Amino acid sequence: MRIAVIGTGYVGLVVGACFAETGNEVICVDRDAAKIKGLNRGKIPIYEPGLEELVRRNHAEKRLTFTTTLPEAVKKSEVIFIAVGTPMGEDGSADLQHVLAAAREVARSMNGYKVVVDKSTVPAGTSELVRAAMKSQTSQPFSVVSNPEFLKQGAAVEDFLKPDRVVIGATDTRAADIMTELYRPFTRTGAPIMVMDCVSAELCKYAANAMLATRISFMNEIANVCERFGGDVDKVRQAIASDKRIGAAFLFPGVGYGGSCFPKDVQAIVKSARDKKYKFQILEAVESVNESQKKVLLAKLDRHFGKKLKGKTLAVWGLAFKPRTDDMREAPAVPIIEGMLARGAQVRAFDPEARDVARSIFKNRIHYARSAYDALKGADALVIVTEWNEFREPDFAKMKRLLKQPLIFDGRNIFDPVQIRTQGFTYTSIGRP
Ligand code: NAD
Repeated sequence: MRIAVIGTGYVGLVVGACFAETGNEVICVDRDAAKIKGLNRGKIPIYEPGLEELVRRNHAEKRLTFTTTLPEAVKKSEVIFIAVGTPMGEDGSADLQHVLAAAREVARSMNGYKVVVDKSTVPAGTSELVRAAMKSQTSQPFSVVSNPEFLKQGAAVEDFLKPDRVVIGATDTRAADIMTELYRPFTRTGAPIMVMDCVSAELCKYAANAMLATRISFMNEIANVCERFGGDVDKVRQAIASDKRIGAAFLFPGVGYGGSCFPKDVQAIVKSARDKKYKFQILEAVESVNESQKKVLLAKLDRHFGKKLKGKTLAVWGLAFKPRTDDMREAPAVPIIEGMLARGAQVRAFDPEARDVARSIFKNRIHYARSAYDALKGADALVIVTEWNEFREPDFAKMKRLLKQPLIFDGRNIFDPVQIRTQGFTYTSIGRP
């Protein structure tokens, strides 16, 4: 099939590359001319495991092309994915301006029947808004489909190639059949393609993210309660995870969830429910627990240093909102480092992939270490914010030599408390004695 993908970000580029990989001809469109120029020269604008190879191969074989010219891409394509950003508006709602602008531009460029697929995460009822926005611009026939994306950054290619399920919201069988055909190569192992109405499809994405965010906030509260009673959240986690009704995923306490999805999607569903006069009480609590959790590490630092962080040097391991990505949107590292700086501390930070992104946020207010060990040089303590695998088995003797004192605040519980104390460290983690 011939496909256009509008928006070449974390989702659009993966979607485009993966559809090209199954033999489709894909044109990726973005209004960011520098991004498109870079892609045409083989430069991948984001870090995502496996993506570079996929993009290079399909680009070389001419199944994957990049352009800033939306009309041309639309004219050449039968299926058009809209994968632009839906950032959080000031009142917490999803800002649909990019989706609707793209839909109008698609409509103006159409030269026959098109399936227009909303891939962006949007509130219930958006497909109707897209349909109306397009109708106002064209008399050509089209179908609007809602096809939420469930990939996770850090494993996006793998998730897209082997989805747990594909959700398709459609109002007519013609569009539903085209979408089912398009996804067939990815569901050969039996993952279901679920066809439903557009509103339900739109809600699937919010329900999934809201459920996962709820598990994280729930476990953060269990960790906070463990701390007050001297319990060990790891033991509690393992015990409840072995209950088949609960399962093991998303039960790790930490410094709060971040990223471009959970914070904005939780707030968007709360806001859209409120617009329908419904108070989404659980999610309001999930969000407020998360805000408090981002302050937990700073409170631990304050307690240890008696609020005297001025003049101290803190090493920070991990800046991205999670491992295996360079994305720092809503990353807990941002308020944590800002809190350190506000207290007068100096920060030496290291992240394997997010250094350039961090530079655009903190400029020259922090030191960007070249390696995890470089960050420790002369630091009064190490603070672990993101659980990159490479931090899990460090050379503890070397760490002790580099740090001014063997002191660790671990926001991700990556070390065993007993072992690390045997190594001579003073160690504080989340929800463990
Ligand atoms: P992103 O910011 O990385 O990418 C969006 C891209 O769209 C940018 O490159 C931007 O320049 C481009 N763009 C915006 N308006 C445009 C227009 N009118 N024409 C052409 N290009 C335009 O965003 P993302 O992380 O890829 O997210 C996109 C959507 O997918 C969001 O709704 C998000 O909630 C959803 N989503 C994201 C993830 C994720 O893990 N990032 C997962 C599932 C769903």
